Amino acid sequence: MTLAFGQPIIAIPGPSPVPDRVLRAAHRASPDIYGDELAALNLQVMAQLKRLAGTRAHLAPYIGNGHVGWEASAANIFNPGDRALVLTSGHFGRSWLDQLTQTGIAAEALDFGNRPADPAMLAERLAQDGDGRIKAVMVCQTDTASAACADIPAIRAAMGDHPALLVVDAIASLGCAPMHMDDWGVDVLIAGSQKGLMCLPGTVFLWFSDRAAAVGPTALTSPTWNWHLRAGAEALWRFWGGTPPVQQIFALDEALRMILDEEGLQNVWARHDTLAKGVWAATEAWADGNPDIVLSVQDRACRSAAVTALKIPGADALRGWTRDRMGVTLGVGLGAADPANALRVAHMGYCNAATVMGALGAMAAGMTALSIPHGRGALDAAAAVFAANA
Ligand SMILES: *Cc1c(COP(=O)(O)O)cnc(C)c1O
Repeated sequence: MTLAFGQPIIAIPGPSPVPDRVLRAAHRASPDIYGDELAALNLQVMAQLKRLAGTRAHLAPYIGNGHVGWEASAANIFNPGDRALVLTSGHFGRSWLDQLTQTGIAAEALDFGNRPADPAMLAERLAQDGDGRIKAVMVCQTDTASAACADIPAIRAAMGDHPALLVVDAIASLGCAPMHMDDWGVDVLIAGSQKGLMCLPGTVFLWFSDRAAAVGPTALTSPTWNWHLRAGAEALWRFWGGTPPVQQIFALDEALRMILDEEGLQNVWARHDTLAKGVWAATEAWADGNPDIVLSVQDRACRSAAVTALKIPGADALRGWTRDRMGVTLGVGLGAADPANALRVAHMGYCNAATVMGALGAMAAGMTALSIPHGRGALDAAAAVFAANA
């Protein structure tokens, strides 16, 4: 017997659910890519993306995923052999470090395990770099594997007057948690279309400050990577280095209208914050009856609003059960010490209290079916959070 038929719930941290409205907006034949209509729409999308990031600076779009965004940013700010300091708080930070190293950058980790970056340790490390050899400090705002959330203003403050650029990967946080790129002094911001932006995978964006713009081009800046050619483009094809991703431009236009003009960014952030708190409340109730159920981030202030990572015995079996028996797909325990006994619940982008309750309810049923010990009252605890905030 399976109860999985009906509208599935995909609670994995990317690609996240795409609203039907956005899919319908994309479901359209390409118009003349040399016509005025699409060029104007592209400009409108670029302006909306700057609003989303909280910046008036520069924006270069690329066709690609988050990894492409990493590489594109490195190609504009580093020469081979340049030094970078990567604050790692989980699998994604470490993968970014590896990619930089393989690109020939002298990338050094300040490794916090699965915990959020400590600004005091950053300040200490930069104080040893009196001659300013470190060219950039890189950090994931949310490391999607550990669900640790970095305090970007505190990191900027810890950098003091060290000349390094601040490069922030907001792939899992933009459109979910606050980002004020200009006010916070972020030099380079990276985010893709497939997580908080509620769009199809396949596009990635680099927002960059005047200070970052002054750095290149470097020996790594090929015409494809060169962000100036895109950010300063006039012809539509120049923005994208060739054929624009036409249907994605339609999708982005619709999704950004929903985020910025209909729900409003403050409300979007507040919704994510409340949904996250509901998931934590449920998890804490389960943990009350089983000390082996543990949220990956202890300090509430350092938890992501977009994804929750937890240890739970039998997580792999539980994920299979919720998927096959109830139509709920949970995220794998990526980067966990024991991935078979860890999972992630995404609450990013197009999801509401009902989808989160659905995911939590499926987990509760699965734990009962699989005899995974757990405390009672998890759904009541989540319901209380939603009742208090809705
Ligand atoms: C998803 C993600 C990436 C990688 O993006 P891809 O699209 O899978 O290449 C990088 N960083 C963070 C924080 C992410 O969440």
